[in-house]
Amino acid sequence: MIKSTITETKTLNYPLPSLTYFVKMPHPTSHLFEVGLQIEHWSNSLLNLKMPVWTPGSYLVREYARHIQDFKAVSKDKQKKLLSQKISKNHWQVETKEVENILITYRVYANELTVRTNHLDNTHGYFNGAALFYFIPGLEATPITLEIVPPNSTWKVSTGLPAIPEKVNQFYAKDFDTLIDSPFEIGSHAIYSFEVLGKPHQYAIWGTGNIQPNQVIEDTKKIIETEAKLFNGLPYDNYLFILHLTQNSFGGLEHKNSCSLIYSRFHFKDTDKYNRFLQLVAHEFFHLWNIKRIRPQALETFDYDQENYTPSLWFSEGTTSYYDMVIPLRAGIYDAHKFLEILGKEITRFLSTPGRKVQPLSESSFDAWIKLYRRDNNSDNCQISYYLKGELVSLLLDLLIRAKHQNQRSLDNVMVQMWEQFGKSETGFTPHQLQRVIESVADMDLQSFFNLYVDSIEELPFNKYLNPFGLQVKPIMEDDGVPYLGIKVQSENNKEIIKFVEKGSPASLEGIDPEDELLAINGIRVTTDELNQRLKDHQPNEIVSITVFHQDELRTFSVTLGKPQPSRYEVVKLENPSPLQQENLSGWLGNI
Ligand SMILES: [Zn+2]
Repeated sequence: MIKSTITETKTLNYPLPSLTYFVKMPHPTSHLFEVGLQIEHWSNSLLNLKMPVWTPGSYLVREYARHIQDFKAVSKDKQKKLLSQKISKNHWQVETKEVENILITYRVYANELTVRTNHLDNTHGYFNGAALFYFIPGLEATPITLEIVPPNSTWKVSTGLPAIPEKVNQFYAKDFDTLIDSPFEIGSHAIYSFEVLGKPHQYAIWGTGNIQPNQVIEDTKKIIETEAKLFNGLPYDNYLFILHLTQNSFGGLEHKNSCSLIYSRFHFKDTDKYNRFLQLVAHEFFHLWNIKRIRPQALETFDYDQENYTPSLWFSEGTTSYYDMVIPLRAGIYDAHKFLEILGKEITRFLSTPGRKVQPLSESSFDAWIKLYRRDNNSDNCQISYYLKGELVSLLLDLLIRAKHQNQRSLDNVMVQMWEQFGKSETGFTPHQLQRVIESVADMDLQSFFNLYVDSIEELPFNKYLNPFGLQVKPIMEDDGVPYLGIKVQSENNKEIIKFVEKGSPASLEGIDPEDELLAINGIRVTTDELNQRLKDHQPNEIVSITVFHQDELRTFSVTLGKPQPSRYEVVKLENPSPLQQENLSGWLGNI
């Protein structure tokens, strides 16, 4: 009886477990992070540890556990070794044997330089928490202390996490979600601090190139101010842009008060390439509202163990992509002509992807896990990116709302209402709730719009929606057109490799396959660079012989060339726009 009372008292007053992670990198050239997890006040006989299989913002199971080695579990004083076993690919179980203070140590191989993986070498350490830290099921809401131990005193630490006052390189995360939503850049990177709307911002830039940091900061400020104006303020205390400069790279990953960007080191002087960088900045920054806080219901609570399916990434990613074109325009970075030029390129990409006639937009979002991130040489025939089509459906919605309300309402009002209704409280929205918000702003029933353009494969009627703004999509046939064959070819090691064969094209009908090596047209060798010129020596409906190596077997096909296809599309003004069309257009894009 007495014993039982003591047990009860002990249980009631028992302190909650506390969690401290350590990240060391004593030998950066080994590419191994040395990670420790110290758990105090543990009171169960078993301890479960799980490694996330994916990271929010990048919808692919990446199996981060595959990089873990040298797992050890001991008592904190290291006197007692604890038995452990693996339960599944990402699940470790430790027998704690009444030990209350436990130390878990392991190493993580980090040699993949992308925004969603880890990279450690003698110039820096970069990590994403999802690819580095275990979570303890049931303790996801427990506050976390994190200590970084750089290999030498010249390496600095940059992260969006708050530093613990008066401690060196110690940080605080209010829960596991926050820990893994805060990538770290550790090294001798350049740090640029600036203020926007009274809040501190930083760029942490690793790598060199032709970047002009002052210009980047000026333009980034404009982007931040423009987006803050749309959403009425900035919902964070501080914000960090981590930027990696490397050879031929492009990517970004959004977080609540930071983002990671990777970009080609020498793409900052060319205006179009620099604009593309600023679009990337505008995109990742816009995400701090749209998807980091305004989240589809399936992503309200992250399940780090498996895929999290949602049909709404077309809004989270596609609408964000629409705004990454609009925001630089509003910020004065480029003008309306440039905006329409960029839009024309996006429409060209869309209309030259046959998969738009196969995969509905909502399905593209749902299947991101097995399709968008796992492309193969048939992808363009059977899928459409929810970024690309989502962006163009967002365009149509913006135009529809603006035309109906003479620019007094727009997609901006949708964003603000989604922010007020779901984002501020971080309550997940359902596809139905999203549609209701858009319908309430548009003040019309949009069921058939959603049926046709989100849940089906109906062609997007660009001209119908552009017409009230005095614009239209114009197909452009360059050089009087090239007879249609339907292949994309790339030179690889002096071989001309067919990378894509368009479904239903003359090439596909005869059986030419992706990965075939293109050799000759009518018996004469042809290269990638010459292909279009050589095809132009022939007429549509003419039969030509195409010779390839198919798995090293020589094959010759007789192919009937088709009619030339538009080489691209442009968005152009109608010849004689009415005053109303002109007014609508300037209400949307400003003076043009
Ligand atoms: Zn995005």
